[in-house]
Amino acid sequence: ALFDNLSEKLGGILDRLTGRGSLSEADVDAAMREVRRALLEADVSLDVVRSFTERVREQAVGATVVKSVTPGQMVVKIVHDELIATLGSDGQTIDLNAVPPVAIMMVGLQGSGKTTTTAKLARRLTQRDKRKVLMASLDVYRPAAMEQLAVLGRDLDIQTLPIVEGQKPAQIARRALEAGKLGGYDVVLLDTAGRTTLDEEMMSEAAEIKSTANPHEVLLVADSLTGQDAVNLARAFDERVGLTGIVLTRVDGDGRGGAALSMRAVTGKPIKLIGTGEKTDALEDFHPNRIAGRILGMGDVVSLVEKAAANIDAEKAARVAEKMRKGQFDLSDMRDQLLQMANMGGISGLMGMMPGIAKMKNQIANAGIDDKIIKRQVAVIDSMTRQERKHPDVLKASRKKRIASGAGVKVEDVNKLLKMHRNMADMMKAMGSGKRGPMAGIAQA
Ligand code: GDP
Repeated sequence: ALFDNLSEKLGGILDRLTGRGSLSEADVDAAMREVRRALLEADVSLDVVRSFTERVREQAVGATVVKSVTPGQMVVKIVHDELIATLGSDGQTIDLNAVPPVAIMMVGLQGSGKTTTTAKLARRLTQRDKRKVLMASLDVYRPAAMEQLAVLGRDLDIQTLPIVEGQKPAQIARRALEAGKLGGYDVVLLDTAGRTTLDEEMMSEAAEIKSTANPHEVLLVADSLTGQDAVNLARAFDERVGLTGIVLTRVDGDGRGGAALSMRAVTGKPIKLIGTGEKTDALEDFHPNRIAGRILGMGDVVSLVEKAAANIDAEKAARVAEKMRKGQFDLSDMRDQLLQMANMGGISGLMGMMPGIAKMKNQIANAGIDDKIIKRQVAVIDSMTRQERKHPDVLKASRKKRIASGAGVKVEDVNKLLKMHRNMADMMKAMGSGKRGPMAGIAQA
């Protein structure tokens, strides 16, 4: 399967890393040679491999090897996290936020799985998302392609635009959107014609359809087995037509799979969906962590290191607790806490980490902390000077106004944050005056 090489090769080399304390340059270089070789074998493009290993190297050399893991395991974790970062963030889905009918245009080479994917997407939007979907084939060169979509539509009980001979692709697109409007459709899927190779005619036709239909999404359907070619294709389509996302097909296959990695790195466009089989239900969301796990085949190592790293976080938290106890909890500490909250999956994660802080749960809930708000609050703190973070009580109205506009929030939000900080600091002081610090349990957790 995908990337078998990498996990085997890495496994071998990593077992040999035995240093302690922090990762040495020699250790990391040895590991990076294997990573580089394996990625190249997986058909990841050279540029991407180069910048990938460089980023991993930067993070790995000198990185502290946390207690209870080996240096090799530490490297795996860093490679894993960087794979995820390169593959893009989670939860990139099809965006339907537009006035219906929302047009989605599918582009790609012939044989990439475009028509099948169009039907798969139509099925998902219909059955799972309860949208009314119209499919239209714009492939005027191959009557069989139009018929193929019509057959799929009949099987799935999804409408396809009636075929009218002699129309140009852009005319068909216009007709599809009109039919979509008249028929009260939520989504119109435009399955454009592919060619066997990338050519100018295909590009200019796609560009024309795009300017006619003004699609909300332009999805490149690319065969993950074609590796480097798929990447060049993605780049060309993006430059010429403009893409909003990528669908990788045949991820179920035995390919070398480097395309996923390069594609995202080269175009910067998110992989939104993956095709995992011939049937119309074989369409899945793209989860970078799953792919990264598959690439490394070392899921247990990753969770081991994560656990060990969580202990380190706990030690950090204990230090903050000490500051709290002494009444020195300032806005910079609060910023750290907020970011940690966001990292740990919001408020409930934090509560799990800090037994002593559970009492504050309502307080924090009343202050209305969720992850979006956390980001805003951090932005407010970032707009302050160091001195202001240490002594927020010196803030005058005029400064608050500035800070608010710097962070793109209202003055009320700044006041709310300051109040929350005061409450937290007071409460911590009160709790800290007891025998045990507010989070005394953490160091042993
Ligand atoms: P198009 O020319 O780009 O429209 O390609 P088609 O949709 O006709 O697909 C070409 C072939 O690939 C068909 O036999 C499909 O069943 C197959 N196919 C499409 N997507 C996938 C996939 O994700 N996995 C597998 N195994 N086969 C697929």
